Amino acid sequence: MPAGKKKQAPVCRECHRVIDGEACAICGGSTLSTDWAGYLIIIKPDESEVARRMNIKLAGRYALKVR
Ligand SMILES: [Zn+2]
Repeated sequence: MPAGKKKQAPVCRECHRVIDGEACAICGGSTLSTDWAGYLIIIKPDESEVARRMNIKLAGRYALKVR
């Protein structure tokens, strides 16, 4: 990893949620990625077009693209 580059938080590959810890608390997935782009904060999933498109039902922080 190049010096000066901040390490990204892990996100769940299944539901794209930014997580703290070893596994995703939402879907239980443990397939994580630190290679992602597009920080997304969902506050009201019911009223968010993006959340609906990404099948997000819970408020929280998500990654738009996960590689
Ligand atoms: Zn998940």
